Amino acid sequence: MVNLNRQALAPGIYLIATPIGAARDITLRSLDILASADVIAAEDTRSLRKLMDIHGIALEGRPLIAYHDHNGAQARPRLMAALEAGKSVVYASEAGTPMVADPGFDLARAAIAAGHCVISAPGPSAVVTALTLSGLPTDRFLFAGFLPSTCAARKTALRDLAAVPATLAFYESPKRVAAMLRDAADVLGGDRAAALCRELTKKFEEVLRGTLAELAQELQATPRKGEMVVVIDRAGEVSVNESDIETALRAVMGNMSVRDAADAVSHDLGLKRRQVYQIALRIGADERGHDG
Ligand code: SAM
Repeated sequence: MVNLNRQALAPGIYLIATPIGAARDITLRSLDILASADVIAAEDTRSLRKLMDIHGIALEGRPLIAYHDHNGAQARPRLMAALEAGKSVVYASEAGTPMVADPGFDLARAAIAAGHCVISAPGPSAVVTALTLSGLPTDRFLFAGFLPSTCAARKTALRDLAAVPATLAFYESPKRVAAMLRDAADVLGGDRAAALCRELTKKFEEVLRGTLAELAQELQATPRKGEMVVVIDRAGEVSVNESDIETALRAVMGNMSVRDAADAVSHDLGLKRRQVYQIALRIGADERGHDG
């Protein structure tokens, strides 16, 4: 059991992250806040009580208020009133970081609009945990939350993300993950690298790495249960051969200077300008030779 640092907290709303599996992944600061806040609010009051019990934090008569997607409009005024009265209010979603595919956004926004302090005690989140395990580049990533549940809408959403130059991360339900991987392979290409990160920080944690086609096949053959994050690599370099560049240049060189044509084509095809400019110079010289 940890030595809690109980203290009078400054008024404001404290957004704390809670574990996504292993109970000891909560931070010491989040425990201190849970032990000290005047009012406690949670997406799931039962799971927060359990977490507090594990870490030896008693309620001691403090209000414990449910705040979730279905009662925000009713519960928010009560929490705002506590803030108005100068109280410290702590909020935890069911697991991980509030507002990351979880409630808390309207509450934080209302607190900001009313001029209250908003304090974050960071900690676990499944998306960051999955990224670190995926083996895929983490220099730039796009968290896309949950995809739509119907095939047509899911494919449209995936098409919108196909060219994003970043690693893509999705939350997914075990019921839909096989279909999601199949659709992702169809839309993004079966050979894109991907990782399925399941039951992170829990007893049956598993990370499957492979191409989208391989993962789709594996999930079809052996369905998996539990909580999961799908991480997908960005699109590879598009391979463009010299004749594609020539065709694109010839289409625009009639009404542009060599320099402008090289700029436009290198931008459109995502190529280095120098390479395109060399080809444009050659086409320009050929055409002048013809004219003469
Ligand atoms: N706020 C949470 C966070 O910061 O990660 C996410 C909440 S969202 C409602 C729940 C989804 O997060 C699950 O359906 C799953 O996709 C993902 N998730 C949560 N815990 C996980 C875990 N231990 N392993 C893998 N994915 C997890």
